[in-house]
Amino acid sequence: MMTQQHASTPIVEGLFEIVAGTPKLIGSQCHACNTIYFPQALSCRNPKCRDKSVEQTFLPHCGTLYSYTVQRYQPPPLFRMDHWSPYALGLVDLGKGLQVMGMLTGIKLDEIAIGMALKLVVEPLYSHADIGEKLTYKFAPAERAGAA
Ligand SMILES: [Zn+2]
Repeated sequence: MMTQQHASTPIVEGLFEIVAGTPKLIGSQCHACNTIYFPQALSCRNPKCRDKSVEQTFLPHCGTLYSYTVQRYQPPPLFRMDHWSPYALGLVDLGKGLQVMGMLTGIKLDEIAIGMALKLVVEPLYSHADIGEKLTYKFAPAERAGAA
């Protein structure tokens, strides 16, 4: 019998992947109309689209903050998070008409600014002896291109 190892795993399979050291969100793109879905979709939901087939695609890992809100109360189960404290939930513009929601990290709540440059990171959300460490994606402040 092999001893079961509790490696770090995503909170939901198929949500993101580390590609050459860079975390990337996994979406679906329609072959016909190029609409991109995140999380992954089984088929294109564009009512005007006749070809419904999609293929897996990686989303851009950098974007800008479009809007955000601060979560000041602890969400009820099933949401789990170790070391809970108020956090910001951002709506991040990844370009190509793509906007993705995610927790913000690495910045004080009163220093968050609409339009700031963000990059995708992966951090532990919670861990448990039976299941190991669960990872989620978040967005952290990024240096703007050209900045030192
Ligand atoms: Zn389509």
